[in-house]
Order: sequence, then structure tokens, then C-alpha cells
Amino acid sequence: MSAPRKLFVTTALPYANGKFHIGHMMEYIQADIWVRNQRMNGAEVNFVCADDAHGAAITIAADKAGVTPQAFVAEIAAGRKPYLDGYYISFDNWHSTDAPENHQLAQDIYRDLRANGLIETKSVEQFYDPEKGMFLADRFIKGECPNCHSKDQYGDNCEVCGAVYAPTELINPYSALSGAKPELRSSEHFFFKLSDPRCEAYLKEWTAAPGHVQAEVQNKIREWLYKDEEGKGGLGDWDISRDAPYFGIEIPDAPGKYFYVWLDAPVGYLASLKNLLDKRCIELGGDGISYTEYMADPDLEQVHFIGKDIITFHTLFWPAMLHFSGRKAPDAVYVHGHLTVSGEKMSKSRGTGIDPLRYLSIGLNPEHLRYYLAAKLNNRNEDLDFNPEDFLARVNSDLIGKYVNIASRTAPFFSKYFDNEMQPLRMGSLQGVPVTADTAGFAVALANSAEIKAAFDGREFSKAVRLIMEVADALNKEFDGFKPWLLAKTAAVDPLAKQQLAQICASSIAGFKALTIFLKPILPALSVEAERYLNVAPLTWRDIELPVDPENFIPSRHKFNEFKPLMQRVDSKVLDQLFEPSEPVPAVSVEPTEADALPGGEAIAPTITIDDFAKIDLRIAKIVACEKVEGSTKLLRLTLDTGEGKTRNVFSGIASAYQPEQLVGKLTVLVANLAPRKMKFGISEGMVLAASHGDEKANPGIHVLAPWQGATPGMRVR
Ligand SMILES: [Zn+2]
Repeated sequence: MSAPRKLFVTTALPYANGKFHIGHMMEYIQADIWVRNQRMNGAEVNFVCADDAHGAAITIAADKAGVTPQAFVAEIAAGRKPYLDGYYISFDNWHSTDAPENHQLAQDIYRDLRANGLIETKSVEQFYDPEKGMFLADRFIKGECPNCHSKDQYGDNCEVCGAVYAPTELINPYSALSGAKPELRSSEHFFFKLSDPRCEAYLKEWTAAPGHVQAEVQNKIREWLYKDEEGKGGLGDWDISRDAPYFGIEIPDAPGKYFYVWLDAPVGYLASLKNLLDKRCIELGGDGISYTEYMADPDLEQVHFIGKDIITFHTLFWPAMLHFSGRKAPDAVYVHGHLTVSGEKMSKSRGTGIDPLRYLSIGLNPEHLRYYLAAKLNNRNEDLDFNPEDFLARVNSDLIGKYVNIASRTAPFFSKYFDNEMQPLRMGSLQGVPVTADTAGFAVALANSAEIKAAFDGREFSKAVRLIMEVADALNKEFDGFKPWLLAKTAAVDPLAKQQLAQICASSIAGFKALTIFLKPILPALSVEAERYLNVAPLTWRDIELPVDPENFIPSRHKFNEFKPLMQRVDSKVLDQLFEPSEPVPAVSVEPTEADALPGGEAIAPTITIDDFAKIDLRIAKIVACEKVEGSTKLLRLTLDTGEGKTRNVFSGIASAYQPEQLVGKLTVLVANLAPRKMKFGISEGMVLAASHGDEKANPGIHVLAPWQGATPGMRVR
């Protein structure tokens, strides 16, 4: 027998500016199933994660909430537990990249890279906000697109025409933080020299080595790593520094310079592990293993589970950082695709997707989600879809109807006819009944066992579930074939009937025990209940290691406990609730500032459904004429082309903000199905949309809405 594997396993560090969404939970569930499977194999696993706490976005979010970045991320961290416990994610430790271990490790790695000649400095021209007193990240600079001249585009790319450019190319740039005109200033930046031939050679070798990354990920990496025929492309140096003020880790010997958040984020894996091992050393006294000793073990395997959006950081920058600082590089980076819901990509802003805590709070079973995701996850970088009907079918028909059902059908016979004692299981010797060993359900369990285990090891969970359901199908078929409910009627007077009843019950319950082992990585809580009924110690893969002696898989006369229902079906009405619009769940309970509580000077209106919204018909309208209204200081009369073949007359209370000639020829948005309204000056056929502050006296100004380029009169806004 080979020695147990030693595994250091992580999931990607979530950014500490918001709550978990269902995509986070999918990754944690995927990794947790794999880890639980390894633990059932006897592996020694340390499974850790941490909050990714640094960077400009956190500073700004904290600033907005009126708290320090430290307090902001602490609030976020405090909210993690209900998700992790709620979905049975078995992390050994949860830490933060702002912890002392991470400061120390990140600085050590940097010093080692520098000693290895892989750090250099270059002067970089960058926009600086003179009001805020800080350099601006690309996303915090806005201006006019140099390509299509759309206004208010970000500093890195135009959302209208898709052009990519440097912030310095923007026309009339301004700071998105203060509105100030940014100044171009030069600053010294630190670079990790990934273009060094040593890095290139090493990364080509590391990424191509078997097992390190999936084949489809390797293909993706080649595009970044290899130069094209003209010698272009390839890895450039990586800018790893940011100027103060920045919430991050100070660069040694460089006052006012901080590591870019992506430099210290993956170091957080090591920091969380070190924190865990240090805590254990304190608990165990001399018996604990130190972080240094642990990482020096040549048998240790370092495994990262990540999403496809962060491949470069984990397969290029991270292995190079570790290797060239004299540390152990990862043994595997497992990339998964994204989760869509009913075919739609999730979007926080549009509120689609599934809120993991809402799922729990309305009473849906977390193990149902674990099972459903397992049934769909494979070992490739592929997206997968959550579909409510499919979810219902898989959970109710397969998980409950096939697996759980075997125990609920068999247990009553044991308690009524056999004093809850296991009966002798004789494979292939079933008197008078045309069942042979190879069609018996338990035989199928043994036949599939090795392949199921291999599928778990290889993260082919959907394949494992398919093989498991084959076993469940065979067991149910066998049970139905015996008609034990008929055998039970004559069991008292017919010894052969009683023997056959004993036989089918023994085969079924042995099969149920096998299925419980197979499903244990996916269903940690249910397996505890099943183990309680079966009256066995926690099950592991060793319990079904081949060759299994069927007669001793559950020894004859072994006593079962009283049976209790194991799991309820999904109620489709409850599932529907998951997709109904809900009261918005309050954001993390940091002290809100007054501005946050009343955006734009007034509270958000009560929630409406998408159907409510669909009743409002918004159309693009062209202002073909505009004039002042005699006798009114507030109103302008607009003549609108809405593509209807005739124009509409609309009065709008915007005279304080616009001269008529400013509006002629412009496009705007019209509420086209508003009931016509008779006014003193005529009939208004609709309403033009405009933005204003709730407290117009304190914050005067009316701003008519205009569509982005490309919209034409008559188009519906939805
Ligand atoms: Zn553009």
C-alpha cells in the first residue's frame, strides 16, 4: 500500500468587498468534495482559504462606508461563517491577506526575488488626482473615448466602441473619485522581470508538465507565454507596485510604495496555512509541525482550485514568484468554468443568480445543491448551468427516489421481521428466484466501486454520480423483482419466503451502505445520519476496498439502529421562492453614512417585479423641436419623433436647466404609454426622463437622460 498523500489545498481568495455569491459556493463545494474524498482515502489534508483584503477598490468601498479598510474587511470576514458552515465547507482555516503572516511572507518572497535579480524599477507616467492626493488606477479615470468620442469612458477601455487604450489617451480626462482634472506625474514603479529568459524557460516547463494544468488551460497559457512567428507577444514584466495611499503591504526599503494587491493575494494561501500550523503547534506543544518543516516535505502536494478568470495570476505569476524565491511551486492548478442560472450569466447589479443565504433561509437543503452541482461538475474548464427543473428532477428522482428510497423501503422489514439484525448475504445463491450474482444490486456496487473512486480522485464528479446512480438503479430493480411486500405476507408460515425476504433485505442494505460510502464526499451530513442508522463508525474508502467479502461487508446479526427518515424532497413551491424577487438583503452591516442611506437624497422605492417594470413602455425619442411655454417658467414644450410616423407633444419641467436650442436634435427617453394628460397649455403625450436630487433646493440641477450612441427613435428601453 502506498503512503497516504499529503495535500495542501486552497480555493481562490474571495475579494473582501462583498458577500459570497453562488459562484463562490460552487468553487468551495467542488474543492470540498475533492478534499473529503481525499480524507476518506486517508490523505492528510490542510484545506485553507482567506479574505483578499487589499487594494484600491477596498479603500474606496471603506471610504464610502465611512470606516477604515481594516474595519471594513473585518465586517466582511465576520459574515463568512454562515455560508461556509451552511454548505458544509470543511476548511481547516480562514485567514486574511492583511494578517501579519502575509506581510512577512510577501516581503520575504520579494526580498528573495530581488536577491535573484528579478526585480527592477522603471519610471512610469501616471495620472494623479491633486484633490485626493493620490495616483489613480485606470478604473478611476474617466473621459472621452479617443476613438468614438463617447463621453464618460473608463481609463482602460471604451464600453461603447470597445477600444482599448492608455488612460493618457482619454480626451478631457477627469478623476472618477473627485471630478478633478488629473495631472500627469511620473513615479518609480517596481517590476517583476517575467521577461527574464529564466522565467520564460521555467514557465514553459512548469505549465507543460503533466498534471499541473488541464489541457485546455495549457492551450490558453500558450497564447500568453509564447511569442508569435514575428517574435511578438510573450511575457512582459509585471508592475507589482502602487503608490501611497494604498491599503496593502509596504515594499521593503521603498518608503511610500506598496505591493499591488495581486502580488500579495496568493501569498495569502501560504499565510493561512502558516497561521493554521502555528496554532496547531501551540495546541500540540512539541508534537506540532512547523510551517517551514511542512513546506520542505518532498511528498507534499500543493493544489489550488480557481475560476477561469484568474488563470494568468495562478499559472504564470504565482509559480514564477514561488520558484524564483526558492520556494515550492504548485503541483496542480484546477480551473473551473462559471456558473450560469437558467442559461444567464450572473450579474450582481441585475440581481439574477441565487443568493446562497436566501437558499438556506427559505429552507432549501444545502446538500441538494451539493448533489446537483456534483452531478454536473467535471474536471474541465467548462461553464455549467443551474436549471430549476433539472435541479428538481435530479434531487427528487435520483437522490431521494433512488438512493434514500432504498433505505426507507428496506428498513421497515428489518425492524418488523428481523429484529433490526443483518441477515446472511449469499451472493448468487438465491433459491427459487432468477437473480444471479452479477445482476444483484450489491454486485453492481462492487463492480463500479473502483471506477467511482477514480472518478472522485480525478474530479470527474458527474461521472461518479452517473456510476453511483447505476448502482442505485440496479438495487431498486432487484428489490422490485423480489416483491418483498408479497414475501412478507407469507414469511410467518413459509420458511422459503422468509429466507428470500432476508436475502433481498440483506442485499439492499449492503447496497445502501456501499452507496453511502460513494456519496459521502458529496453528502457529509446525510452520511452521518446513514452511518447512525447502519450503526457503523465513520465510513471511508477502505470499507469498500476490493476484494470485499460480501458476507462480512455487514456481518450477519449486526444490529441496526431505529430508522428515521433521512431526507425530504424539494418542494417546487419553495424552489420557486428562490427566484422570486425578495426584499433586498441589507449589505454588510458597516455603519452607513447618511449619503449611503439616502442615495440621491431619497430612499430606494419598494421592490417591484420584472412584470411591474414591463408595464412601463420606454422608447427612444428624438427632440425635433423645442420651445419655451408662454406663461410658465418651469415648462418646455417638446416635439418628439418616436418612430410612429407622427410626432408627439410633451411638456417637461426642465426650463430651469436647458435652453430650447440645447435640446433640439438630441435623443432622449420617453415614457410612451403614460396616459395623456391635459394641462393648462395643451395635452402632454408622455413624459421625458430626467435625473434630479431628492432635495432639489440643496442640490439643484435637472439632467435629461440620453441614450448611448447607436440608439434610434422608437427603440424600446428594457
Ligand atoms: Zn469609444
